[in-house]
Amino acid sequence: MLKTVKFGGSSVAGADQFRKVKAIVESDASRRVVVVSAAGKRSSDDHKLTDLLYLCHAHLQYGVSCDEIFDSIRDRLISIRDELGLSCPLEEKLQALRARLNRDFSVDELVSRGEYFTSMLMAEYLGYAFVDAADCVFFNFEGQLDMDKTGSAIKTALETYDRIVIPGFYGSLPSGRIKVMSRGGSDISGALAAAATDSDIYENWTDVSGILMADPKIVEKPRSISKITYGELRELAFMGASVLHEESILPVREKGIPLNIRNTNRPEDPGTMIVGNVEEEEEDERFLTGIAGRRGFNVLTLHRHDMNLSHTLSRALAVFDRYHVNVEHITLGLDSFALVASAASLGDNLYEIISDMKKECHAEDIEVQDNIALVAAVGRKMSSRLGTSGEIFNALGSNGVNIRTIAQGADELSIIIGVDNRNFETAIRVLYDGFAG
Ligand code: ASP
Repeated sequence: MLKTVKFGGSSVAGADQFRKVKAIVESDASRRVVVVSAAGKRSSDDHKLTDLLYLCHAHLQYGVSCDEIFDSIRDRLISIRDELGLSCPLEEKLQALRARLNRDFSVDELVSRGEYFTSMLMAEYLGYAFVDAADCVFFNFEGQLDMDKTGSAIKTALETYDRIVIPGFYGSLPSGRIKVMSRGGSDISGALAAAATDSDIYENWTDVSGILMADPKIVEKPRSISKITYGELRELAFMGASVLHEESILPVREKGIPLNIRNTNRPEDPGTMIVGNVEEEEEDERFLTGIAGRRGFNVLTLHRHDMNLSHTLSRALAVFDRYHVNVEHITLGLDSFALVASAASLGDNLYEIISDMKKECHAEDIEVQDNIALVAAVGRKMSSRLGTSGEIFNALGSNGVNIRTIAQGADELSIIIGVDNRNFETAIRVLYDGFAG
């Protein structure tokens, strides 16, 4: 058994968090590949190392001294080292870094130092080998991850050292220069490491006990999801649930490696298991897996009698494409169809789009509904269960929520309901209380 374990910023924010990580790693000898983020916030008014490093860079760019910020980064790292009785020569290393900052130093290299130093401390604390991500995570000339080269380098590192700590969030370009991923990218590094080492599981340790069934800002104390498929997770993430870095799913999904989201502060909680599919006998009776949603959409409904649907629809889509507006949902009728797009992406082009559609699609009429929120009820079991949509619509209707549009995902993983923006939170609560609580 082999486990890749990734610890997010809040899990390594200070010495106490380091102690929890060590207890977790030591409680299971198969946790041999450890991926670490940069130290995050210790409290809500604290700063993440990565943010401080970006701030340092901004100061340097405008010729303003970054000494104060740099000192706070140094103090933070040194306090972790000293509290844990480690010996990493941070002063020397940080001094060398500071000396180089005024010369040719890329923003990517600078901000990657959060992960670099936090991982170095973690490696010493765990007694694991530190493997620099610059030596095992590779990008190609186009800046895309080079999966093959990365895979074999991480595999070799594990074979060589047996127990390794790799910093998340960055890697190197063919020129040797450091490149960082997008924010939250350590999730991707963890997934790459799990895939490269053919781990049995990828554990992503954070500060919540898994993915919640609904937004806790809307629903009081929502339950966490015990099992979810990769497909369902994508639907929830697409509809606004913020969980993992989206690109982190692919490497593990391809290899069929389950991903377990766990809470460093409550290691006894089982968290959420994300898997390819769930066996029928493991299912519970709840048919909704989660609920998510977003506000701020417009629905454009085109009416035309006796139209050739595919022809007219493709012309309408071409208009959206011309204005670089993404169509998020389509519902079809016999003499009409409705296209849903976010109001932000339609922006000032809304009236041009309507006028072009009228002309190019020979539309009799185009109706626009604005201030629409989309709410997605996501669940793998909905497709095989009779009457699901009826129950959902009934519950919303009897709670005074007027449904403006309905769309069902083609793979029947979700039912998407458009409601007025002002009914958004009520709709989520009704669905949660009725079908998920
Ligand atoms: N430290 C980086 C960030 O704050 C990457 C990560 O935490 O995954 O975005």
